[in-house]
This record gives sequence, structure tokens and C-alpha cells, in this order.
Amino acid sequence: MNSMTDLNPQTNDALMARRVAALPRGVGQSHGVFAVRAENAEIWDVEGRRWIDFCAGIAVVNTGHRHPRVMAAVRDQLDRFTHTCFQVVAYESYVRLAERLNALAPGRTPKKTFFMNTGAEAVENAIKVARAYTGRGGVIAFNGAFHGRTMMTLALTGKVDPYKKGFGPFPGEIFHAPFPDPLHGVTVDDALHGIELIFKNDIDPHRVAAIVVEPVQGEGGYLPAPADFLQRLRALCDRHGIVMIVDEVQTGAARCGSFFAVEHAGIEPDVITLAKGLGGGMTLSAVIGKATVMDAAVPGGLGSTYAGHPVAVAAALAVLDVIEEEKLAERAARLGETCRARFEALRARFSCIADVRGLGAMTAVEFCHDGDPKKPARDVAEALKAEAAKRGLLLLNCGSYGNTLRLMLPLTIQDAVLDEGFAILEAALAAVAGDR
Ligand code: PMP
Repeated sequence: MNSMTDLNPQTNDALMARRVAALPRGVGQSHGVFAVRAENAEIWDVEGRRWIDFCAGIAVVNTGHRHPRVMAAVRDQLDRFTHTCFQVVAYESYVRLAERLNALAPGRTPKKTFFMNTGAEAVENAIKVARAYTGRGGVIAFNGAFHGRTMMTLALTGKVDPYKKGFGPFPGEIFHAPFPDPLHGVTVDDALHGIELIFKNDIDPHRVAAIVVEPVQGEGGYLPAPADFLQRLRALCDRHGIVMIVDEVQTGAARCGSFFAVEHAGIEPDVITLAKGLGGGMTLSAVIGKATVMDAAVPGGLGSTYAGHPVAVAAALAVLDVIEEEKLAERAARLGETCRARFEALRARFSCIADVRGLGAMTAVEFCHDGDPKKPARDVAEALKAEAAKRGLLLLNCGSYGNTLRLMLPLTIQDAVLDEGFAILEAALAAVAGDR
């Protein structure tokens, strides 16, 4: 170890000072905490303090921090080989993981899968495949969407500050329609009408390659897409020969009560993107789609040096086993019900709670001022986050106005740790909002 590092006091504040000096400010940080160890739903920091983790690395460790099965698979792979580049020298585990995801994907149409590293890369590649298949350029996404931080995925993302600020121009032929949001008066009809307006005002539907939709908007505020919205989008895509891409980067891997969240709508997407929970903490994303669509890209057109890294693939195979054996989709559904019931009880006490919503374990509470949802209360969400952190609980907010608290529990969280965390959350909310 470097002697300079040894001499530096290992406190969160001291490390924060070094971070500020050494890193650009654009790399944000939600909590002034530096981890040294983590286990399931708990993290220990450099000062030896224990934290309850309701963030899961932004909905990544669905199987908990360091699930023993996942760790064993990683160790085993480390003892074999770490990198060959799949496009140079292949390995069976990559093919097996693709086969398993093809079988899990909704619908009967034969599927094919390839792997990338990050969620943004998966979305980028879904667009590439859709363009190659249709020979068209246009893409429609939704207001409030989040699809990543690369140039194409930023173009698709429907929030300027902070994601797009100062980074344009972005790729062209990208359009945004409203996303259904009952609390703020946007109906499914409004959202679909928005797409019709794009066809009328901006681009002929026969030049649109893809529509990209999150089954539950994640960064945009944990807004579930109603089942009939997804079904009508499916029909609209069929009508115009548009590839329907469902971005399951945040919603997938059992988080929403089924392996893919879109299953709740009973439709078959043309392409699905998956990341976060798939790798169990290792870097892996997947593009899964109908074989005819996926085969449109020419040989050599897809891939990357590290994509489908053998260690991440080994972790993902173990993640799929754990999800199946520990019935984590069912557990996600139960966790969501428990959390929403507890939030509904709080709603009676606190007029700042404008809405409680979610799908499966994706649960959110939106805060407002004066009991009026039109007055977003980011300050309440931020104060709650800070107060909970003082008491040892890690929370994150989201939404167009940052006024939504979202729960991203490891799906393996022990009941006692969940209870302890929720008690902190309730006490912190009472301290911040006062009984009203
Ligand atoms: N799509 C969705 C729906 C996401 O939630 C995210 C990340 N929050 C991304 C894409 C981008 O993933 P990554 O940060 O791994 O590039």
C-alpha cells in the first residue's frame, strides 16, 4: 500500500477532501461515506460505522452485497481465466447465460442475446440493432426517461439538469412524448396522443426505427407504466413496423416482482435491455431480442473488448440461480407490498406525502408542499435523506424535481434489517416533516 495513503487519517471527511481535490465535481456523490466492507443490506465505512443500505448501489445488488453463491462463482472464475475477449477466444459460460436469458424473455418468438458492460451501452446497442433491422433513423423516448450518459442515451434521456447540461449537441432524430403520470394529470391517452403529434409534426412513422420505454421510469420518479399503456404501445409499434425496446436496466432481474417488469403487461417486446441486477455487483449488461431483429447487425458490428467479461458472466449465472432458488421475484412483490403499506400509513400523518406508488420492490413516495402535488418538495426529500443518514440509513431520491424518495432494497434483505431501516426512515420523516 502507498505510504501516503497509510498516513492519511481514514475518516469520511478526510477522504472527501481528497476526493474533492482529485476528482472533477461532475462526478456526484449522494452520501459522504467511504465503504470498506458490505454484506447483504449493510455497509461498513472507513470509521467502522454500520449503515443500512436502501440504495443497493442504485438497484444493482438485488441479490444483496456479496451473496455467497455469487462470490464463489467469481472466485472460481478468477482461478480459471479473467479475459480473452469473447470475440477473439470464446467461452461456454457466455453462451449459457445467453441461452438462459433467451428462455426467460417474455413471448414465444425465438430470442438471441449479446452482452455489453453498462446499461447505457446496452441501450446504445439496442438502438443500433433497431436501426439495422428497420433501415430507419428516428427514435422516440419519453419525458422524464433516463437511458444513460453516453451521447445517444443522453439524447434519449428526458431530463436536462444535470444530465444533459452543457453536453450537447446530441444525435438527431430523437423525439420525446409525455409519459403517463396520473398524479400530474397525464393520462395514457395523453401519452399516446403525444406520439401521434410527433408523427404529425416531426417525423413520418415509417422513418421511426424504435420506441424506447422503461416499464417503470427509474430516475424519472419511479413511475410505473400502466399495463394498458405498454399494450397500446405494442400495438402502435406493430402498426408502423417500429421496434419496441423495453429498457429494463433498473426494473429487471426480479426487482419488480417478475424477472422482467414488462411481464406485468403480458406483452412481448422486440428488444429488452438489462444490466444492474444481472451482474450481482459485477459490470454486465445484456441486449435480448427477437432473433430476426438481433441478427440484422452485420458480423463484427456488435461487441466491445470487455463485453460479457467472464467474471461478470460467472456472477450473472449465479445471480440467476439465486433469483430462482430464493424466489426473489416473489420476495420483491412482498417487499413492495410491505413498504407501500407502511408508507400509506405515514400518508395519513404527513400532508407532505403526495403519492405512494411502485411496482414490485420499486417503491416511491413523492413529496409536496401544502398538500398540493403541483408544489414539488425537493427540500423534504433532501432533508429526509440527510436526517436518515444521521441515523445510519442510506436513502436516495429521484424524479424530475428530485422530490421523490425511492427504495432500492437488496431483495435478500433480512426482515429485521428492513424493520430497523424503516423505523429509522419513519423517525427521520417525523423529525423533518413534523406530525401533521
Ligand atoms: N437505463 C435505465 C432505465 C437506467 O436506470 C440506467 C441507470 N440508472 C441506465 C439505463 C444507464 O445505466 P448505466 O449507468 O449502467 O450506464
